[in-house]
Amino acid sequence: MTTTPDRAPLIEALEVCDLATILPALAAATGDLSLLDPTLRPSDAMFAETEAGLSLDQAQQVRALAKRGLNQLLDHGPIGDLSREDLATIMCWLLPDRGVVEQYFDLFVHELGLADLRTPTWSVPAVAPGRTLSAIVIGAGMSGIVTAHRLLQAGLTVTVIEKDAEIGGTWFENTYPGCRVDVANHLYSYSFGTRENWTSYHSPQRDLLAYFRRVADECGVRPHVRLATTVTGCTWDETTAQWQVGLEGDRGHEVAVADVVVSCVGQLNHPRIPDLPGIDTFGGPQFHTARWNHEVDLSGARVGIVGTGSSALQVIPELAGTVAHLTVFERSPSWLAPALTYRQSVPEGLRLLFDTIPNAMGWLRLWLVWKNCEGLLALARVDDTFDGGGRSVSLMNEGFREILTAVLEAYLPGRPDLLRAMTPDYPPLARRIVPDDGSIPAALLRDDVALIHHGVTAVTPSGVVTDDGTHHDLDVIIWATGFHAQDFLLPMPVVGRGGLTLDAAWNGEPAAHLGICVPGFPNLFFTYGPNTNIVINGSIIYFTELEVDWITKALHHLVATNASSLEARPEALERWVEYVDATNAKMAWGASSVMSWYKSASGRVTQNWGESLLAYYDITKTFDPSDYVVTPRKPA
Ligand SMILES: Cc1cc2nc3c(=O)[nH]c(=O)nc-3n(C[C@H](O)[C@H](O)[C@H](O)COP(=O)(O)OP(=O)(O)OC[C@H]3O[C@@H](n4cnc5c(N)ncnc54)[C@H](O)[C@@H]3O)c2cc1C
Repeated sequence: MTTTPDRAPLIEALEVCDLATILPALAAATGDLSLLDPTLRPSDAMFAETEAGLSLDQAQQVRALAKRGLNQLLDHGPIGDLSREDLATIMCWLLPDRGVVEQYFDLFVHELGLADLRTPTWSVPAVAPGRTLSAIVIGAGMSGIVTAHRLLQAGLTVTVIEKDAEIGGTWFENTYPGCRVDVANHLYSYSFGTRENWTSYHSPQRDLLAYFRRVADECGVRPHVRLATTVTGCTWDETTAQWQVGLEGDRGHEVAVADVVVSCVGQLNHPRIPDLPGIDTFGGPQFHTARWNHEVDLSGARVGIVGTGSSALQVIPELAGTVAHLTVFERSPSWLAPALTYRQSVPEGLRLLFDTIPNAMGWLRLWLVWKNCEGLLALARVDDTFDGGGRSVSLMNEGFREILTAVLEAYLPGRPDLLRAMTPDYPPLARRIVPDDGSIPAALLRDDVALIHHGVTAVTPSGVVTDDGTHHDLDVIIWATGFHAQDFLLPMPVVGRGGLTLDAAWNGEPAAHLGICVPGFPNLFFTYGPNTNIVINGSIIYFTELEVDWITKALHHLVATNASSLEARPEALERWVEYVDATNAKMAWGASSVMSWYKSASGRVTQNWGESLLAYYDITKTFDPSDYVVTPRKPA
């Protein structure tokens, strides 16, 4: 027996619908393209003054049309699959022009998640009957989960080794107050599987952890995960053409073997605390944000937080007013961008619509891919003919700077000192922008919060010393000082062909072909590897999904050609490095001299992707054997 949903709450919910995507979602669900009134198209401007850039009157017209579409849907049910032409017509209504839709069509279809198009279409037993292929996946965070899922689908024997007591990676380890995702969650989620009907626009850590645990369970990954076990090193064995993987866990030290190793250790997994003089002499508790000590009672304490990057700026509004005094030590401020929904719950009505209209969340996701990621790239692109004096990289970037500065000014009336301290002297998007709903300036305006615009140079038994020689008395120090992002695979030694170590191969400049493969390291693949991090607010999940898709294609080639191993050719990596260096140099984060965790000690951008999401999609779409040394299997 089917139940008919009660219409009244659904019609009422249209008051809180997403004005940009409700009509495309209903047009796709009903097949009624006449809902797409050309006068009601949303604006993709970053800070449109009204929702989706629509006037109040237009908003009412959208709702009226949506009511018609919703009634059609409830009367007749969803239409089923749409033709390519109809899908493209709907996309064209939502997006700036037909050219964009034609270029992005395949990517958008993936992101819409109409079907799980990345399921491998092959499997080891089907392609090579009698052959087994084993893989060790290091890490059970977001990347490890999807990697294991796809490799299992491709019929590999998979073991995931996770050092923590639970899966979840970033979202298991970071439990500091205020920890949440800074990308809208309808984008920061896998493109496959049951869509989460998020209760927050930017979910807090506990909801993200629950999500990743659910997906791991749904995909059957969990039984393949060994928790509380650390990979201590990997060595390529030339004679067996396998990796020997050292493990340390409750069974003591072991060596496991696998044909393939996939590193899913992330870029932000090893907390970095600066090695300052006197750091061990501090008399009170001190800890890193990623290792929050929940035993320490901060109420009544004079707390110092060192750093003003993403984590610090999430913690500060939570601690302000709950501790006796909060001192924030800032070396270099982050740009803040207005994000009014940042701490808001998704209205119940909207969640109800998401539950009722098939794939309404997919259409919102597609809109976010355009509006919050690809559509923003132009803001970060360097105009060589423009002289921004180091503070901006193009006229658009300068305009963006002016908007962000004006917003900050409005939040800090009569406090030129704070405004000066909180305004970066580098271009917007030279580092990742921190979303803010006004909570950060509000916290810093409090009498019991002080912002010190000086770096910490030493620690004493009773506090810290800043670079102007001032001593600050503290009871607790919180280090919000980031991660050893450059040291992929820290601290384990990885030894490839002929005894070559990854440390020696990289020599402080991590690089991998496509961000995935390193010459001399056969059958070793990276997810979230070098040059696959992003600055414009996209989602790392997008990159990991493409990498894993590519890895399965590479493994298909390995199995189909009866090969034992494949590895990138040095010349392929050289070309790749030239390409990523050239593209990064054209973006605010590469052109600006400001230091960030994206750069190696030499100043080269080792972490970031310098092109569009589409470019990475196109590059990873196929496996090109000519870039790889493929070694045949020895006869049995
Ligand atoms: C506080 C914070 C906020 C973030 N916010 C965003 C955001 O808003 N948007 C976004 O796109 N990204 C964000 N990121 C980046 C985030 O790391 C990625 O989005 C994503 O979680 C990376 O997943 P991962 O599985 O690749 O790595 P991780 O989540 O770091 O997981 C790596 C796993 O590998 C395990 N591991 C490491 N070494 C070993 C070893 N030797 N042996 C066994 N296991 C090992 C770790 O224990 C961990 O579980 C944020 C990161 C942090 C730290």
